Amino acid sequence: MKSRRRFRLVTLLMGVTLASLAVGRHWRARRAERAVVELSGAPYPLPTAGRQMPGPVENAQVLGPPSEPALFQALAGWVPDPPRSTPARVLAYAWASPMSLAGLLVGMASGARPRIREGVVLFPGAEGLSGWMLRTRGFQATALGHVVIARGNPNPSLLAHELVHVRHAERLGPLFAPLYGALWLAYGYARHPMERAARLGGRRAHVRGMDGLRAAPRSARSR
Ligand SMILES: [Zn+2]
Repeated sequence: MKSRRRFRLVTLLMGVTLASLAVGRHWRARRAERAVVELSGAPYPLPTAGRQMPGPVENAQVLGPPSEPALFQALAGWVPDPPRSTPARVLAYAWASPMSLAGLLVGMASGARPRIREGVVLFPGAEGLSGWMLRTRGFQATALGHVVIARGNPNPSLLAHELVHVRHAERLGPLFAPLYGALWLAYGYARHPMERAARLGGRRAHVRGMDGLRAAPRSARSR
């Protein structure tokens, strides 16, 4: 009887230990996942993706699945230049305006005071419903057309990341949202081709500064 009770106690203790180990593992995995999202604007994205990769992260494009179609691979490296001429700029703002309008509504719901930075309306320090939405998704910032809503004051890498989305919106206009959504369903966030492109932009800004994302003068480009 005594040994039976001891057996039960040992089994129970083992069960509790195993369960707590499993819970601990789960939470560590969750925390790593969250850290990945938090780092999405940082120069070296996705540290946990290292397992699938042969070496250090050289290029955000390597984060795609090996059998990825060439078009999506190209999309993952798509960091367009800002429009250079005034007519092109007017067209870009007009083409992206439906999304920018949505962005302004989300920005106004953030309670943050807007300011103009790098040709976009930036709402830094988003609170309220918009801030809550960013927080619960684990995002530091989001870009909707020519509007960027950020939880804090975005550092150059994060701003550059969002500006790549702005450039995408300028080229894609109303097609941005359906394309982004479809790719999200196929890829999720971490491997999303447009997110990989944005990380590339973020890293370029980290290395070269914001000038790396501004349209270079023609003389510099011909070199
Ligand atoms: Zn992004």
